[in-house]
Amino acid sequence: MRRILFLLSVMTMPLSPSIGGAQSPDWNATSRETLAHLQHLIRTNTVNPPGNEMAVALYLDSTLKSAGIETNLFEPAPGRAALVARLRGDGSRRPVIIMGHMDVVGVERAKWSVDPFAAEVKDGYLYGRGAIDDKGMLAANLQTMLLLKRHVLDAGGKLSRDVIFVANSDEEAGGDFGMGWLIAHHRKLIDAEFVLNEGGRTRIVRGKPLYVAVQNTEKVAHVVTVTAKGPGGHASIPLKGNAITRLGRALAAIGTHQEPTQVNATTRAFFGQLSTVWPDPAERRAMADVASRDFARVTRGAHVLGATPVFDAVLRTGISATIVNGGIRSNVIPTEATATLNIRTLPGQSIDSVVARLRRVVSDSSVTLTITERGEDAPASDFGSPMFTAIADAVKELAPAMVTVPYLSTGATDSARLRQLGMQAFGILPFPMNQDDEDRMHGNDERIPLASLDFGTRLIYGAVMRITR
Ligand SMILES: [Zn+2]
Repeated sequence: MRRILFLLSVMTMPLSPSIGGAQSPDWNATSRETLAHLQHLIRTNTVNPPGNEMAVALYLDSTLKSAGIETNLFEPAPGRAALVARLRGDGSRRPVIIMGHMDVVGVERAKWSVDPFAAEVKDGYLYGRGAIDDKGMLAANLQTMLLLKRHVLDAGGKLSRDVIFVANSDEEAGGDFGMGWLIAHHRKLIDAEFVLNEGGRTRIVRGKPLYVAVQNTEKVAHVVTVTAKGPGGHASIPLKGNAITRLGRALAAIGTHQEPTQVNATTRAFFGQLSTVWPDPAERRAMADVASRDFARVTRGAHVLGATPVFDAVLRTGISATIVNGGIRSNVIPTEATATLNIRTLPGQSIDSVVARLRRVVSDSSVTLTITERGEDAPASDFGSPMFTAIADAVKELAPAMVTVPYLSTGATDSARLRQLGMQAFGILPFPMNQDDEDRMHGNDERIPLASLDFGTRLIYGAVMRITR
C-alpha cells in the first residue's frame, strides 16, 4: 500500500505542457480511459494457441478509426490479425514504431484467485491474463496514439516523424503469424528509425521505484540435442554403457559447467549505473566491480552477483536442460536416450564454440551434441541514441530519483527481427513493479498496479512526444 501511495505522489507532478507546443492531457480522465481499454482487451480472450487475436484487433481498429487515425488491418491466417495504424508526421525524420502483441499465454484456472478474463479491479490492482504481458503496453500505446491525435495534431501541432502503432499476433508462439509475417508481407508499412517494444523492466526494489531497464540487446536462443547411445537388451542382464546412465552422466557434467563471464557495453553500463542506486551494499560493490575494466574486480563482482540467477544470466551464456527422453518399457534397456538443452548465448557469442566446450566437458564418444535450432544474432541498439535519451528524460520528469539503464534481456523478443533490419529497437515494461508482481507474468494472478498503468502510459507518451518533436 505504501508503495502505491508513493507512486501516486510521483504521478501528481505535471508533465511539462510546453513539449511540442501541445496541450497537456487531463491525466485523471486519461487514467480512466486507459483502464477501460485495458479491461476490454483482457476480457477478449486471446490465449495462444489458438490466439484469435482478430477480436482484439477489431476493437483497437475501431477505437483508432473513430478517433480519426488511419489503420491497416490484415488477417495473416484465419482469426489471426496484424494491425498497423499511423499518425502522419511532417516527414523531416524517419518514423517511430510503438508496438505490442495481442496474444497471451494460457492459464491454470484452478490456481487463480480471480477469473483471469474478468479484468477485475481489486485493492488498487487490475487482475487478468495479459495485464502486464502485453495488453498493458498495448493499452498504453493505444492511449498514446489517441493523446497525440487530440493534443498535438488536432490542436494544430506537428510531429517530426510518423508514429506507427503495431499490434501483432503470435508473439508467444514463435511469431510466424505476427512480426515475421508483417516483415515478410508489409515491410514498407513498418519502416522506422526507432521502435518501442516490450522487453524491459521498471523495478520497485524494497518498496522504492528504483530503475527503468531499457532493453537494447537480447540473448540468442538455441536448441541443442544431447544423444547418448549404448547397447540394448533385456533389463535382467545389466549392461555397461547403458544409454540412460551415460546420458545422466553427461547431463550431470553439463549441469556443473559454467560458461565464462563476459561483460559487454550494455552490461557494463547496466551494472555501473545500477550500483549508484542499489540498496544492498555488498551487491552495490559487486556491481561497481563488474562495471570496472579490472579483471580481478570483474571476477570478484561476478562471483557475488552470480548468486542471483537473474544477474548470473546476463553475465554469461546460460544452459538449461529442458526435456529428457529415453526408454520404451521398464524391462528393456534402450539403445538411445536424448535430452534437450535450451542455450541462450550472449550477443556476439558463437553457439558452435559453446557446444565445442560442452563436448569437452562431457568427454564421451558415445554421446553426441547436435545444434537442432540455431538462433539468429542481431546488433545491439545504441543506448546513446535520441530514443534512449527520450525515454530517460520522460522517466526523469515522472520520477526524478529513478535511473534509466540499458539492459540485456535474457528472454527473446520480436525486437531482434527489427534490429536485424537496421531499426533501433528498445524494449520497455513501463509499469513500475516489484519482483512479486513481475513474477506473475506468464504465472497465476497476473496483475498490474493501477498507479503503474498510469505511470507507464505517461512514460510512453512522454518518450514519444520527445522523439517526435
Ligand atoms: Zn510478451
